[in-house]
Amino acid sequence: MSTSKDLYQIGEIPPRGEVPRRMFAQVIRPDRFGEPEKAFQIEEIETPRPGPGEALVLVMAAGINYNNVWAAKGIPVDVTQVHARFGEPDDFHVGGSDASGVVWQVGPGVENVAVGDHVVIHCGQWDPDDPFVASGGDPGFADSYRIWGYESNWGSFAQFTKVQAHQCLPKAPHLTWEQAAAPTLVGATAYRMLMGWPPHVVQEGDVVLVWGGAGGLGSMAIQIVRELGGKAVAVVSSDDKAQFCMRLGAVGTINRKDFSHWGMPPHWTDTEGYAAWFAGAKTFGKALWDAVGEKQSPRIVFEHPGEDTIPTSIFVCATGGMVVICAGTTGYNAVADLRYLWMRQKRFQGSHFANDEQSAGFNQMVVDGKIDPCLARTFSFDEVGDSHQLMSENRHPEGNMAVLVSAPTEGLTELPG
Ligand code: NAP
Repeated sequence: MSTSKDLYQIGEIPPRGEVPRRMFAQVIRPDRFGEPEKAFQIEEIETPRPGPGEALVLVMAAGINYNNVWAAKGIPVDVTQVHARFGEPDDFHVGGSDASGVVWQVGPGVENVAVGDHVVIHCGQWDPDDPFVASGGDPGFADSYRIWGYESNWGSFAQFTKVQAHQCLPKAPHLTWEQAAAPTLVGATAYRMLMGWPPHVVQEGDVVLVWGGAGGLGSMAIQIVRELGGKAVAVVSSDDKAQFCMRLGAVGTINRKDFSHWGMPPHWTDTEGYAAWFAGAKTFGKALWDAVGEKQSPRIVFEHPGEDTIPTSIFVCATGGMVVICAGTTGYNAVADLRYLWMRQKRFQGSHFANDEQSAGFNQMVVDGKIDPCLARTFSFDEVGDSHQLMSENRHPEGNMAVLVSAPTEGLTELPG
């Protein structure tokens, strides 16, 4: 198709289906890894083209996630080295693992979406020819599984993003572009954590302890638990965040600032030190029962802070319950007093994003209006670095954040014009 222009300005929408040769993107390069506010810079780059099974999506708005804080810092991995392994350009990274937008071009063999469809994008990618996937295995366990806009290049912090067509899900018509862009990564991750590890799926009346209840993951987890008839107790660090969690349907909250026993406990042979840690963990457990209103321990503990909180999570989890974890934001050393793990027969389960069915399951809850995307703040495209900086310093608002890309203003639910 011939193009009338080689490049469009941010917020300018090309004629339907027309793909300019070049586009603007927020780019990270290894030589500026560091604080997100400096690592992200707007550059003009070549527009990718969809291959077999792929779609090119005009990004209307993009969601902000913690993974590109990591990408900006180059910790714990240099993501451009991962791109190299997959044969993608490896001298830069275009991040962004959440988007709302319009399908602009499709590659050969794509049947689930067509040009003009309004979509949101889940961030799970895999090789469809991966023998494990082809034989019906959960793609989440496949060697080729990776996160679009983190381990892959061509994420949503650009005018166009290249995705595998199966990642596209219908956009909830009642949401604005920026609202729709906000919740899919954290929401589908929470959905798998709470629904994907039977028999530990949330059941009516279950207590679920949700760390970081006012964060991206936590705000989605509280709402999913509420919809399933469970009782979410949210851990937070301020009264404002506690109120936010109660509004989402938590039955109670705990302020982690009231405790000081965080991090790796002293060795169990250090009798005095260990006893002090244990007293802190027990007081936390008591605060949890107070929040529930009865002596009911969590059948599921929703974990992601990691090193600071895991010892407490494993201790307070109910006998026969599960601690499910998808991150180690505060550190990677998980120290557990194994006596509580084996004697009380608890499960410690890793979890990572979601598959197509789980992403679609979460998206349906959004489309049905059961989940509020909790969009707290919308940024302009040139503020991608600033929004990640806020997140890196835990100074971001409750819930989720998004940036406008091709959506010219906030509040639009359709393509303008
Ligand atoms: P977020 O919006 O920043 O929320 C994290 C929350 O953690 C914060 O709101 C904060 O709440 C709490 N927190 C901060 N420091 C803490 C500490 N020392 N102890 C306990 N809680 C603490 O981030 P998110 O989007 O929820 O993501 C959280 C982590 O999960 C990130 O590392 C992210 O990369 C990861 N993640 C992984 C996957 C996956 O598929 N594997 C998917 C999504 C996210 P308070 O200050 O109120 O306690």
